[in-house]
Amino acid sequence: MVAQIIDGKAFAARLRERVGEQAAKFEGLAGRKAGLAVVLVGEDPASQVYVRSKHKATVAANMESFEHRLPAETTEADLLALVDQLNADQTVDGILVQLPLPAHLDEKAVIASISPDKDVDGFHVTNAGRLAVGQSGFVPCTPMGCMMLLADRLGDLSGLEAVVIGRSNIVGKPMAQLLLDANATVTIAHSRTKDLAGVVKRADIVVAAVGRAEMVKAEWLKEGATVIDVGINRLPPEPGADKGRLVGDVDYAGAQSVAAAITPVPGGVGPMTIAVLLRNTLIAAYRNEGLDLPDGAL
Ligand code: NDP
Repeated sequence: MVAQIIDGKAFAARLRERVGEQAAKFEGLAGRKAGLAVVLVGEDPASQVYVRSKHKATVAANMESFEHRLPAETTEADLLALVDQLNADQTVDGILVQLPLPAHLDEKAVIASISPDKDVDGFHVTNAGRLAVGQSGFVPCTPMGCMMLLADRLGDLSGLEAVVIGRSNIVGKPMAQLLLDANATVTIAHSRTKDLAGVVKRADIVVAAVGRAEMVKAEWLKEGATVIDVGINRLPPEPGADKGRLVGDVDYAGAQSVAAAITPVPGGVGPMTIAVLLRNTLIAAYRNEGLDLPDGAL
């Protein structure tokens, strides 16, 4: 068997295009653009890159991007005051506070201060609760992106065995919840799981969200499994190179001869995250204006 490559980059580009079209319609209906506010505290280089690419993607999708860059020594009171101001601002539909925050700031308190209806990252406990009980809210972007790739690839997931490796609040847990909602039989594995290889062997769908380079071996996989690799890990540089290669949590080369389909790293799940962020922002905008997005538009 030679696995098909699930092209997340192309899927994400099509989603961004649909969001852009609907965002232009929104502007016509509401008389303003949908708006995403991104707050960055400090100078973390990786966060700066993410914030820059979110800004570019937001503008390219016909939406307004409001960037707020605060110095690393910003107090929690000042940050909370900015979030309050954004919560009250009618032109801001989505608010994203870029994580990680500097150590003196309490991430939980900051996320809790964002209005759940503008929490387009889906990290607020109200949105986690809505997902848990099946109410509509905002779902974290990365697992939502994985789900879209799975639905596109497999259609109905009813009765399929799914194993999610990792139980973080931003990937593993919401991923498991989405798979359960889609009627898969879900197992969540983590660092204390006994016989991880045996657990993975049962799975028709494997979602790896661990952060350990090539940990999932080809021989763990069931023949014909669909593999979604969320992990982003940088290998040590080869001699003479200044940067190491990016790899996922799955042995990609080995998995190619066992899996039916697999996401590459990079170019698989990664590009879906920003595309879903734009989608969530547009949904927030339609809701905030009391307008209905046409069914199936996104
Ligand atoms: P976390 O570190 O928060 O969670 C990692 C999870 O993996 C934990 O639940 C942990 O278990 C589990 N784990 C660790 N070691 C093992 C092991 N040996 N066997 C089984 N499970 C193990 O990471 P995130 O969920 O935030 O991210 C996971 C990966 O996804 C990272 O590589 C990250 O870079 C990537 N990522 C990619 C995104 C994208 O856009 N593509 C977005 C977000 C993340 P325990 O709970 O027991 O400690």
